[in-house]
Amino acid sequence: MFKITAIPALKDNYIWAIHDDHRAVVVDPGEAAPVLAFLNARGLQLDSILCTHRHNDHIGGIAKLREVYNVPVYGRRHPDNPHITHDLREGGQLKLDAFGIVFGVIEIPGHLDDHIAFIAPDTLFCGDVLFGAGCGRNFEGTPAQLHHSLQRLAQLPDSTRVYCAHEYTAANLRFALACEPDNVAIQQRVAATQQLRAANLPTLPSSIALEKATNPFLRCSQPELIRTLQQRGLTDTTELGVFTALREWRNRF
Ligand code: ZN
Ligand code: FE
Repeated sequence: MFKITAIPALKDNYIWAIHDDHRAVVVDPGEAAPVLAFLNARGLQLDSILCTHRHNDHIGGIAKLREVYNVPVYGRRHPDNPHITHDLREGGQLKLDAFGIVFGVIEIPGHLDDHIAFIAPDTLFCGDVLFGAGCGRNFEGTPAQLHHSLQRLAQLPDSTRVYCAHEYTAANLRFALACEPDNVAIQQRVAATQQLRAANLPTLPSSIALEKATNPFLRCSQPELIRTLQQRGLTDTTELGVFTALREWRNRF
């Protein structure tokens, strides 16, 4: 049986390690040193590297790791990401034989064009597209693409554990509460998040059920949220209109 452990890196990144007592696979190693320290402390061999998108805080440690461990790097190829050894596309599969895991791959553009998600039963690695109570910035592509990508993730089973690449939950919840002040699930998540952070513990993984109950970007048809945005001048109350207004407000919040 394998475990999934957060390796904190950089300012607020998590490098997720899938591991047993012998080997590990890491997701989005933006830094090599904390991964090498993790492997050495537990006597693990690196088996492979998974990559959700090409931002440096997700790929910055790959070259150094591969000087020590000449392992495959699975992700979507892009001219600005020289590290990928195995190109993955929509509908692709990745078998991690060491752990008996089979990931399905979907393309989830809207943060960056090359962003993919790794999906196994009850497990989602979603990089910078879906965060605890929030979503990634729309750097490339359209708000419609980001919205569509998030909708696809929201359709995963409620029990799916959501492994995001950043610890942004507390700040995102302040925004979620501004959107829906009366949402009890958000209020409860604020309290739970404060406790975890006070103990210096990750607020992740969350679950698809929790995100659907508390993440404003998955709640664009909720009346209270729409009313809040209307009070701020929203006129286009289609789901995409609400989503776009929400993403713009969050950029300035
Ligand atoms: Zn990113
Ligand atoms: Fe990032």
